[in-house]
Amino acid sequence: MNKSFRTGKQFAGEMDSRDPLADMRNRFYIPENTIYMDGNSLGLASMDAEKKLQEALQDWKTLAIRGWLDAKSPWFYLPEKLGAKMAELVGAQPEEVVMTGSTTGNLHSMVSTFYKPWEGRTKIIADTLNFPSDIYALRSQVMLHGLDPEENLVLVESRDGKYIDEDDVIKYMDETVSLVLLPGVLYRSGQLLDMKRLTSEAHKRGIIIGFDCAHSAGAVPHYFDNWDVDFAFWCSYKHLNGGPGSPAFIYLNKRHFNREPGLAGWFGCKKEKQFDLSIDFDHANSAGGWQMGTPSVFSAAALEGSLDISCEAGIEKIREKSLELTSYLIFLVENTLSDAPYNYTTGTPLDTDRRGGHVAIIHPQEAWRICCALKDRNIIPDFRPDSVIRLAPCALYNTFTDVWNVAEALREILDHKEYEKFSVKRDAVS
Ligand SMILES: *Cc1c(COP(=O)(O)O)cnc(C)c1O
Repeated sequence: MNKSFRTGKQFAGEMDSRDPLADMRNRFYIPENTIYMDGNSLGLASMDAEKKLQEALQDWKTLAIRGWLDAKSPWFYLPEKLGAKMAELVGAQPEEVVMTGSTTGNLHSMVSTFYKPWEGRTKIIADTLNFPSDIYALRSQVMLHGLDPEENLVLVESRDGKYIDEDDVIKYMDETVSLVLLPGVLYRSGQLLDMKRLTSEAHKRGIIIGFDCAHSAGAVPHYFDNWDVDFAFWCSYKHLNGGPGSPAFIYLNKRHFNREPGLAGWFGCKKEKQFDLSIDFDHANSAGGWQMGTPSVFSAAALEGSLDISCEAGIEKIREKSLELTSYLIFLVENTLSDAPYNYTTGTPLDTDRRGGHVAIIHPQEAWRICCALKDRNIIPDFRPDSVIRLAPCALYNTFTDVWNVAEALREILDHKEYEKFSVKRDAVS
């Protein structure tokens, strides 16, 4: 970690000239004259993704149905092939990861596999700061079993509205709990939970534990096998740059391969038997057994290209640069923008072991309109109510100079009251 940041612009240039990942940026399509700081919502398109997508389109034109086996990247094997690439980035064995479905769909699939309230343990532990979709899904899972979510879905509260204290989660882990589901990185504050410790504490009490890694995959290294996590799932359109709505992933610890998939489908069959079309389901002895239906080939094709970039850069290098970028942004805010009249604060852990790949900048009154003013200057953040400006300087395509320019824009927007031009009414997608 570089602890000797300086506030002048020249320093940013020096950091950029020493950046081992600097060339990666040239493989991405960065919207013209734009500083893109929203890679934690939708990563950028890359030439690698475009090339694979065009190949898939060409294969469809020339091969039609034969593309399933004869395409350059045979479509039939894409879920396993991309799972194996992804496994490198999350500390798993190739057969423990599969590309399939969506984040929320995969949550349902995993919880359906592990949550068996009739065996005695009826509770699920989650937290109040998780992405709402996860909570909706968990509530519906509890209700599917005829149980009351008020009683059986335990939502751990945050002490400060920003972070979750692992001790508060562990307190609830007892013999009534079936499973724990938590995010790897909290989507708003960017807090990185201690997945290793939580897993070990859950297992001591016979509890299954899984993580939603939508906000950590591609930005933070995971060591799922070493930590002995039971399952995880995540999307690929954020830090993994797979494209809008690109397919998600499941990690399933190999110790669970012989369980029965909770939500079965024919793509979960052993590959060599799938086209026997037997009505007896014999699921693959791998995470692939948890697929349901036909994969979305074009989305997978683009994702293959973008995964290649992340694998080539290496997750440890990505993490190193990501932490320098976020630390630099925090440094600039704390040292130049925290006093009146600016009054920005950071709502992201300062300790790098506790931080994901984005930074929450808090402005108590005007966060939404400051986001509008940033966009007006072609700087793309996103807004999370009530007062969070989320900025994700991404290791693969952002520079230290980008970060410096964003901090300068945050200052000028207040200096000139640029936010006053905008309405307090929010857009449908923010
Ligand atoms: C982005 C995100 C999701 C999105 O779920 P989809 O099913 O892909 O729409 C879910 N959970 C978390 C924690 C996220 O950050």
